[in-house]
Amino acid sequence: MIRYDVRSPRADDFINHQEILDTLAYAAMHRHDAALARSILEKARANLTPAHDHGTTLTHREASVLLACEDPEVNAEIRQLARDIKQAYYGNRIVLFAPLYLSNYCVNGCLYCPYHAKNRDIPRRKLTQEEIRAEVIALQDMGHKRLAIEAGEDPAHNPLSYILESLETIYGTKHKNGAIRRVNVNIAATTEDAYRQLKAAEIGTYILFQETYHRARYEELHPSGPKADYAWHTEAHDRAMAAGIDDVGLGVLFGLEGYAYEFAGLLMHAEHLEAVFGVGPHTISVPRVKPASDIDPDDFDNGIPDEMFEKIIALIRIAVPYTGMIISTRESQEVRAAALQLGVSQISGGSRTSVGGYVDEARPHDTEQFDVSDQRTLDEVIGWLMDEGHLPSFCTACYRAGRTGDRFMEFCKNGQILDFCQPNALLTLGEYLCDYASPAVAEKGWKMIDAELARVPDGRRALATDYLARICTGARDF
Ligand code: SAM
Repeated sequence: MIRYDVRSPRADDFINHQEILDTLAYAAMHRHDAALARSILEKARANLTPAHDHGTTLTHREASVLLACEDPEVNAEIRQLARDIKQAYYGNRIVLFAPLYLSNYCVNGCLYCPYHAKNRDIPRRKLTQEEIRAEVIALQDMGHKRLAIEAGEDPAHNPLSYILESLETIYGTKHKNGAIRRVNVNIAATTEDAYRQLKAAEIGTYILFQETYHRARYEELHPSGPKADYAWHTEAHDRAMAAGIDDVGLGVLFGLEGYAYEFAGLLMHAEHLEAVFGVGPHTISVPRVKPASDIDPDDFDNGIPDEMFEKIIALIRIAVPYTGMIISTRESQEVRAAALQLGVSQISGGSRTSVGGYVDEARPHDTEQFDVSDQRTLDEVIGWLMDEGHLPSFCTACYRAGRTGDRFMEFCKNGQILDFCQPNALLTLGEYLCDYASPAVAEKGWKMIDAELARVPDGRRALATDYLARICTGARDF
């Protein structure tokens, strides 16, 4: 008998292997059952009706049936529904951020990651606080307001005190037009006490990718170091939330194990967080394994073709409509364009994945974590987003106004987030256009702001217009 307990604190219970296998068998059995798939889509479509509370999620079983479905018409309906849900929950806004690599020292042995301890081909580097300040200034000069800090796991080189000091440096680096307003943190699984200290340091989202939900595969891919402990890693978000971090981010590194297994595991993880804490994941990231120093993605035979990758993105959007979804510069412009239509709400732009990469004129490769496919500048990305009909946003207001965790979810689920976010996105885009944009992007941007202002609810339009006028005369950060 399956011991599947969504509320259990044990990883092996809430990501139950047998339950995933049964789910996959059930989904495969129904892969030609268009009627079943349509009834599941109908349940998700209820989120679009105004009278509905907008909180309906699909179970991992229902979503897995859709993933396995081979009916081309149903698959077209999945794409359309994902687009509609993205519009209903997030509008056409896309939030921008950049990763900031602090240190590539790492004691783990992850077979897919160039930071692995045995890799002698990359120089090891850790930024000093002075170097962090320089990186942050370079990022601010591009226009960024939101960062995600990244570091390998190394208690000697990158202890928690180093991460905390770095956070203080980042938030404290005031430069020309203000400061970085939100710092998300992607560091290895740690203790509840350490999460408490990160919370006190005012981090935004705590992001930790599961890499793979398949325990046996996980253990094979993580032969040494603290990350080798599957349960410690998988239960990390629970510890973070127990420590008071409201916003946590999930992710799978697609390519390490079969995608259907990972997809079911990811949704079970979201169901677990929602069942235990009343709040699901604030974000879900969808990285795919990339070539890197000492790493050949062909060593992992579970790579997903773009078409299936897009279907996964669409189904995450449908199954967990409230979650933010992130795609990084690991992906090409073409893949990112499709992903944005299907439900991604946050992207990185102008990214460099090397430690200390932003201060250099040319893109350095020696300490890079992985190859960056989308190498355009932030300004090029902003111009392109607008050409594609998206509204670039640098907004961090929810977090700063305390709309995190269940408060954010409530706003998002009942559609109110749109009323706040649309005007805030316009203000932060206005700031970008005044301070950083090229003339061509600025021209495009102000036209977009004019058009978008007309869509701001009546009660807020006058205020937004007034704030934008003040931004043009030098006021910032409303
Ligand atoms: N040390 C932290 C941890 O263990 O979670 C942060 C790790 S790393 C800086 C951030 C993420 O990069 C990892 O969680 C992994 O999913 C991803 N990554 C590692 N190697 C990669 C590769 N070759 N291609 C794409 N992404 C990779």
